[in-house]
Amino acid sequence: YDDRDGKIWMDGQLIDWRDANVHILTHAMHYASSVFEGERAYNGKIFKSREHSERLKRSAEMIDFEIPYTVDEIEAAKKAVLEANGKSDAYVRAIAWRGVGEDMGVASARNPVRMAIASWEWGAYYGDAKMKGAKLDISKWKRPSPETIPCHAKAAGLYMICTMSKHAAEAKGCSDAMMFDYRGYVAEATGANIFFVKDGEVHTPTPDCFLNGLTRQTVIGMLRDRGVTVHERHIMPEELEGFEQCWLTGTAAEVTPVGQIGDYNFEVGALTRDIAQSYETLVRS
Ligand code: PMP
Repeated sequence: YDDRDGKIWMDGQLIDWRDANVHILTHAMHYASSVFEGERAYNGKIFKSREHSERLKRSAEMIDFEIPYTVDEIEAAKKAVLEANGKSDAYVRAIAWRGVGEDMGVASARNPVRMAIASWEWGAYYGDAKMKGAKLDISKWKRPSPETIPCHAKAAGLYMICTMSKHAAEAKGCSDAMMFDYRGYVAEATGANIFFVKDGEVHTPTPDCFLNGLTRQTVIGMLRDRGVTVHERHIMPEELEGFEQCWLTGTAAEVTPVGQIGDYNFEVGALTRDIAQSYETLVRS
């Protein structure tokens, strides 16, 4: 991804893609002092753009630093990047981190906070699975307790176990992994929230130790508008067998049907297809 044409906004300026580099002694690289956003622009407009910028600022506060730009400034920067790269449908990645400081210890209060925004084309996150239903592995890693890490921040440190889970899943021919939480309840996939359908009602885990995704919130609203009952609750692993349909939600994943989790199978049913289609219509409206 580093050797290509295009522009990246970095610390207040648009620079050439190939020049958007940081020093090896960047605090974030050693101690995960970084927060980020994944956003999608449709027809030139980022879906829930402000909400993403606000979440980025909140994530930074949760891991002890303040982004030196207002939400309005971040909004303007994202717009400038999209315009400079000239794609109306694009993925947008904003990132803020602690830079190089006067020493190399764990503390970073005196290290400068830096920020960058890139955008590029990124099609269906799960490729073909978008139509057929993704196959998910069950991860051995558990989402940590809110007493272990600020689990509602979209912070790099929380993704270490996601990467390991996804590597293990891909080695087994799966598209992603479903993770349980520290108590053993169903939590989410490595970069997307999860929903289940049973007897015409929807069940989704309570986001009390993982990201309450913007897509998740949008989809819950769409379901309730249709009169579908949505249960946000703790879901036990043994319940997986009884669910009929399953899908994932996320900015990158959008609404992706799930066909299999471990040994459990799900149909890509009418409600799953309807919600996937309606989400696509909504983001482009
Ligand atoms: N959980 C994790 C771990 C994620 O990385 C994401 C993607 N940001 C989500 C859930 C879904 O969040 P959103 O719908 O806001 O993209």
